[in-house]
Amino acid sequence: MVAIPKTQKAVVFEKHGGPLVYKDIPVPTPGPDEILINVKFSGVCHTDLHAWKGDWPLDTKLPLVGGHEGAGVVVAKGNQVTNFDLGDYAGIKWLNGSCLSCEYCNNGFEPNCASALLSGYTVDGSFQQYAIAKAIHAAPIPAGTDLANVAPILCAGITVYKAIKESGVKPGQWLAVAGAGGGLGSLCIQYGRLMGLRVLGIDTGAAKAKLAQDLGTEVFIDFAKTPDLVAEVIKVTDGGPHAVINVAAAEKPFEMSCRYVRPRGTVVAVGLPKNGYIRSEIMTTVLKSITIKGSYVGNRADTTEALDFFSRGLIESPIKIVGLSELASVFELMEKGEIAGRYVLDTSK
Ligand code: NAD
Ligand code: ZN
Repeated sequence: MVAIPKTQKAVVFEKHGGPLVYKDIPVPTPGPDEILINVKFSGVCHTDLHAWKGDWPLDTKLPLVGGHEGAGVVVAKGNQVTNFDLGDYAGIKWLNGSCLSCEYCNNGFEPNCASALLSGYTVDGSFQQYAIAKAIHAAPIPAGTDLANVAPILCAGITVYKAIKESGVKPGQWLAVAGAGGGLGSLCIQYGRLMGLRVLGIDTGAAKAKLAQDLGTEVFIDFAKTPDLVAEVIKVTDGGPHAVINVAAAEKPFEMSCRYVRPRGTVVAVGLPKNGYIRSEIMTTVLKSITIKGSYVGNRADTTEALDFFSRGLIESPIKIVGLSELASVFELMEKGEIAGRYVLDTSK
């Protein structure tokens, strides 16, 4: 039995865009169907930045502890919990809980549940040392896993793995990743390769180009240095990619992907830019018979499957580790687009 302290370190904000305060707060107590996870590492997703800035028309809890890529150890559990024991490794995901009895939950579309609880958004998340998760939704992480490296899989990995499946792309076909050098993109390249796809990465800057190439893109295009991106993508993929995963937090690449996607191809929206819309010219949409669809994190099965690729040593986690107290400077770098891969916070610092 590990001793659970009464207080812990966390990063809290009281209003959107307000100070990110590293301070002591009480350690929460799990309810009957919940586990308390001693979070060792937490990835910083661009969603956390959107949440802090208040970018979306979906209210957050305030004050809020953000974070939804938390990897740690179960230290307490409610009396209804049967799927975790104390000492097990577990992960905090974006989808903290859902009703499990609505039309969407019943069909495995748990993220679409109207009563979904969202970590680091509607409930406190993983930018703290002890976080609560509904046991049924917490990610089971195999014993012996490197908790820093697995953290980005808990949102970025699950999300891109699911998005590729949603695209319907087949082995041997082209997959374009718009935003390839970021947290989601750098994992999307790898899941794509593992699924037998030819991956085209689109992003900007030497660091992101190198990362994307090291992780397996067959071609990388720097969008800032390419005057006619649409023509270039069509040229290098000999007719356009069969699927595009848009993971940029910007609107423009979505519209472009509708223009360069191959006839009969699929454009998947994953990135969530503020006030964003996808514009696709109707004539082209019809004549090319393209599909435009959204993909939102993943369900419990997607979680297990995405983690399995990682556990078998097939995914390289492109992380840089800094202390939890440094969240504000990580957000600053992310805002400027200067993060290649993912930053992970060590909650002990
Ligand atoms: P990130 O900041 O790590 O990466 C975004 C990347 O997009 C950066 O490398 C940036 O250079 C690149 N980019 C910007 N403009 C571009 C352009 N015009 N063309 C190509 N690339 C461009 O962010 P992240 O953590 O990977 O998250 C990306 C987005 O996905 C965010 O909006 C986040 O909220 C969203 N997200 C959605 C889901 C979901 O379930 N749909 C899950 C997680 C994150
Ligand atoms: Zn996320």
